[in-house]
Amino acid sequence: MNLDHCVLIVGAGIGGLTLAAALRRAGVPHRVFEQAPALGEVGAGIGLWTNAIRGLRTAGVDLAQVEARASEVRWGEAGAADGRTLARFDVGAIADRHGAPSYVVHRAELHAAIAQAVDPGAITVGAACVGLSQDEAGVTLRFADGSEVRGAIAVGADGLRSAVRAALFGQEAPRYAGETCYRAVAAHDTGDPHVLREVQGRGPRCCVVQLGPGRVYWWATERAPAGQPVPIEARKARLAALFEGFRFGFPEALAATDPDAILQHDLYDRPPLPRWSEGRVTLLGDAAHPTTPNLGQGACMAIEDAVVLTRALSRRGAEPAAAFRAYEAERRARCYRIVKQSRLFGWVGSWSNPVAVWLRESINALTPPAVLARAMDEQLGYDAGALA
Ligand SMILES: Cc1cc2nc3c(=O)[nH]c(=O)nc-3n(C[C@H](O)[C@H](O)[C@H](O)COP(=O)(O)OP(=O)(O)OC[C@H]3O[C@@H](n4cnc5c(N)ncnc54)[C@H](O)[C@@H]3O)c2cc1C
Repeated sequence: MNLDHCVLIVGAGIGGLTLAAALRRAGVPHRVFEQAPALGEVGAGIGLWTNAIRGLRTAGVDLAQVEARASEVRWGEAGAADGRTLARFDVGAIADRHGAPSYVVHRAELHAAIAQAVDPGAITVGAACVGLSQDEAGVTLRFADGSEVRGAIAVGADGLRSAVRAALFGQEAPRYAGETCYRAVAAHDTGDPHVLREVQGRGPRCCVVQLGPGRVYWWATERAPAGQPVPIEARKARLAALFEGFRFGFPEALAATDPDAILQHDLYDRPPLPRWSEGRVTLLGDAAHPTTPNLGQGACMAIEDAVVLTRALSRRGAEPAAAFRAYEAERRARCYRIVKQSRLFGWVGSWSNPVAVWLRESINALTPPAVLARAMDEQLGYDAGALA
């Protein structure tokens, strides 16, 4: 298939679809290729902060239905397992300052809302990209069924184990963070619909947050070797034992959870790449800068990438190499700062030594609120800007 004039996007996750929506709005021709037989996302929650809400609005995504079913987060709290609140972050003040709220939303509902902003005729499902080649005039993607598509440029938005990244920079295993993560949505109420609470114990840590009326989203981690998932039927009992006696509502949310709904994923990121682009091909989202989820910014950064890349590509007469340089220059420092901070946050948060835990809790409790507010504002108050 010859699509000489098109941007070819590999992957229809949150990043790839947001890019497609933004390119559509900017009038840049594009096509999306997704390996799965149908569009969709896993059934869990996701933190969508002020920075991402602004990005989605810019990309032309109508969030009305997602927002109606979600809960706005006005406060973030860090707690100790025994019930002490160690720190509070005024998330609502950031929302008010920047004119965009923060939500925890359902992933599948978010994905569906972004898909609504994409031209359905631009998406091909069941198309697993297995390789690519490029020359001065264009890029050719190769798919698992033997077919090929040629376009002007290509964007790998194909996630943590990106085939496009491997084709550009070689195959390398992602970096395990030492923790495995369980998560689920359950029919339950936290009693505090606008508070997101993370509780760190001696190793295990967890978070519970309202996901609209009558639903909560929770996640929980434990330190564990990579690649040894707990059988689904044993997860609930394992978590009940690990988090026995924790305050702040995690045991109650777990008790309300359908055992078959508990997902488990090991947590990975990757060390920084010196560059994301090669010739007519670049990377976006997890394909470029996968991060551990400790700051809840992986998908948010993919959304920001989509806006910045669209702006770079829609500059009149922009050559791909120059557009990709501008895109990377705008994105790399922020993304890698978040990847690094997130890894550190997870490492410290999963300390188990009692002295180290005491130190962590003291630092959490003694950090001046103004310092926390500044750090949060830098992260959540980021504006990816306009499309043009
Ligand atoms: C436990 C957990 C909790 C998280 N919580 C948050 C949070 O609260 N907030 C937040 O912002 N982020 C969070 N994240 C991170 C977030 O999920 C990712 O950063 C985000 O999904 C990245 O989006 P993406 O589109 O770049 O990649 P992906 O979501 O991985 O999408 C990639 C897409 O490409 C497709 N694909 C893959 N390979 C190919 C191929 N060869 N050919 C064609 N298609 C292909 C895939 O099927 C998929 O549809 C969390 C992650 C985890 C693991």
